[in-house]
Amino acid sequence: MKQLVMSGIAKSFSGVAALRGVDFDVRSGEVHALLGANGAGKSTLMKILSGAYISDGGTIAIDGQTASIRTPSDAKAQGIHCVYQEVDTVIVPHLTVAENIMLDRLAAAGGGYRLVDWKGMAREAAAMLDRLGASIPVRKLAGELTLAEKQLVVIARLLTEQAKYVIFDEPTAPLSLEEAERLFRVIAGLKKDGIGIIFISHRLPEVFRLCDRITVMRDGEKVLTTEASASSPEEVVTAMLGRSLEEEFP
Ligand code: ADP
Ligand code: MG
Ligand code: MG
Repeated sequence: MKQLVMSGIAKSFSGVAALRGVDFDVRSGEVHALLGANGAGKSTLMKILSGAYISDGGTIAIDGQTASIRTPSDAKAQGIHCVYQEVDTVIVPHLTVAENIMLDRLAAAGGGYRLVDWKGMAREAAAMLDRLGASIPVRKLAGELTLAEKQLVVIARLLTEQAKYVIFDEPTAPLSLEEAERLFRVIAGLKKDGIGIIFISHRLPEVFRLCDRITVMRDGEKVLTTEASASSPEEVVTAMLGRSLEEEFP
């Protein structure tokens, strides 16, 4: 089975443990939710996977091969990409939508901008957006897009970079309901294409609608992995809190 497996991942910051030997896996063509209260360690685990942090211990294997991920470019080279809720840091506002989608190609051209096939690039970018069901003019400046549109541009970009696994860290937090619905349709399309998706969210209704499996973390440890269809919001909230709702709200 094609899957990404993290085993025994540990990480401390100035001697304080943020992750205490966490196991987590995501299969290709699966949407796997990662849940936990604020500070549980979700983002730290995902930053290790995406090369933003280096773990103190543990291993990562991709499709059966041990992977060494020490930088963001290591992660991208192995097909691991992230979509954060704050996409502004990865969008170049004074470039067009097409240029933003094809940023890899442009970077590869370096100073050789005259050699770039601009029309071909715009066509490819438009086709990519089409595949996502997004109607954004490719000649528009990316700085003029809404945040939801910028997310779609980032997703189109990672498709051009042969993404195999995609991390969404609270992507719907800044979106309207309509925008979130559009993002869910896009995520369903990525899943159909065999991409493995890690979905971090605090909104349980969308998690249960969208996700195949759910993993819950608490205080730097994994406390539950379950099929979404075999679980309930009550079970998940109890795992997140470490006590039942009755104990929390007597
Ligand atoms: P979550 O994403 O589940 O809210 P985080 O992974 O952001 O949790 O944080 C887990 C723990 O690690 C928290 O106690 C947080 O304060 C700590 N932490 C995360 N990043 C850093 C950092 N760069 N420096 C120091 N502590 C950090
Ligand atoms: Mg947090
Ligand atoms: Mg976080």
